[in-house]
Amino acid sequence: MPSTPFDARTQRPTTRLTQAGRNESLCRGAVNVPVVHASSIGFPSVAAYEAAEKDRFNGLFYGRYGTPTAFALEEAVAEMEGGYRALAVPSGVAAISLAILSLVKPGDHILVVDSCYGPTRGFCEGYLKELGVETTYFPAHLGGSISGLLRPNTRLVFGESPGSGTFEVMDLQAISGTLKGTEVALVIDNTWATPCFLRAFDHGVAFSIHSATKYIGGHSDLMMGLVVADEAHYEPLRRTAAFLGLCVGPDDCYLALRGLRSLRARLEMHQRNALAVARWLEARGEVARVLYPALESAPGHAIWRRDFSGASGLFSFELAEPDPARLTAIADGLELFCLGASWGGYESMVLPVKAPRSCGPAPVEGAILRLHIGLEDPADLIADLEQALTRAVSWQSRPRQAAQ
Ligand SMILES: *Cc1c(COP(=O)(O)O)cnc(C)c1O
Repeated sequence: MPSTPFDARTQRPTTRLTQAGRNESLCRGAVNVPVVHASSIGFPSVAAYEAAEKDRFNGLFYGRYGTPTAFALEEAVAEMEGGYRALAVPSGVAAISLAILSLVKPGDHILVVDSCYGPTRGFCEGYLKELGVETTYFPAHLGGSISGLLRPNTRLVFGESPGSGTFEVMDLQAISGTLKGTEVALVIDNTWATPCFLRAFDHGVAFSIHSATKYIGGHSDLMMGLVVADEAHYEPLRRTAAFLGLCVGPDDCYLALRGLRSLRARLEMHQRNALAVARWLEARGEVARVLYPALESAPGHAIWRRDFSGASGLFSFELAEPDPARLTAIADGLELFCLGASWGGYESMVLPVKAPRSCGPAPVEGAILRLHIGLEDPADLIADLEQALTRAVSWQSRPRQAAQ
């Protein structure tokens, strides 16, 4: 088949990021897909209504099943990641619980990586347990020997790579190789890498989950989750979401689509800045370890290099002297870093993180600080870290000045 630059199948991912989901018939010449507010959809006949109802997981039927703005976002994200279809839901946590719920029933068993996002563990312990679904946690480095943990009633393996807080890299190829030929679905939380830096469907996943609140939104003003599915798992996912009545507003879908267009450009800069800050921290006497897969010294570096095409701007570091008061003093003493939950916006953030584990200790001695490196000049971020590290040695923690 002859290929031209206008053939979508031959365009490179960076080009597709600017093109995907731009439905010409909706745009009518405008560059962007419009924000379509809709609950009711009108049909010319009962037959047309019934046909749309039958096909409600694939097209426009009623606002709760999706609007044209949501479809455009879902189409773009699924294409970027190499999945079949995607579904937008109200938050990243909703994406995690929905994906799991679409696969399990009472009496089932699931495997979850020990370095998962805290609320993922919370959902397993606080909700699935009562539902009669049992969770076994496995260490992130397990790879192919995960086969030893599979039971006849195991439905899914839930991974997150790199892991939350401590950034362990998983061997997804080894795990998906082991699961091949079984009915066990591989599900991953791909929020850290985004579809730009890890095309999860090249690694045999059934679902790839994103907190679009983070890099896809990219501006700290949006809550949204996305589940990208392969063909076999798409309809059960959509059906479960329909039972739960999950849907998202078109204004938020518009914001997510808008964020998506600049995702790669922002990520490249997050990566460059984060590497500069991580290398600087690594050379400091106060710092024991920097947990960032893009560093040659990181334990998961080789697998990261094999599977990922980049590193985003989120990493942690551990102090040489594991003194929680000093850690707090550093976090309190930073001026340019916003202190709080979440990350993935244009701004730098800091947060002390805990790493609860079920399979033995986390790969750190004491408390660690998580940094999100934003789009500021890294020289200013380094200067801020330098003053905070230096002052923390002799400094008592003090409350941060209230924001003006
Ligand atoms: C933030 C986060 C989530 C949850 O996303 P929300 O949109 O805040 O619900 C899920 N997974 C990871 C890895 C996250 O960092």
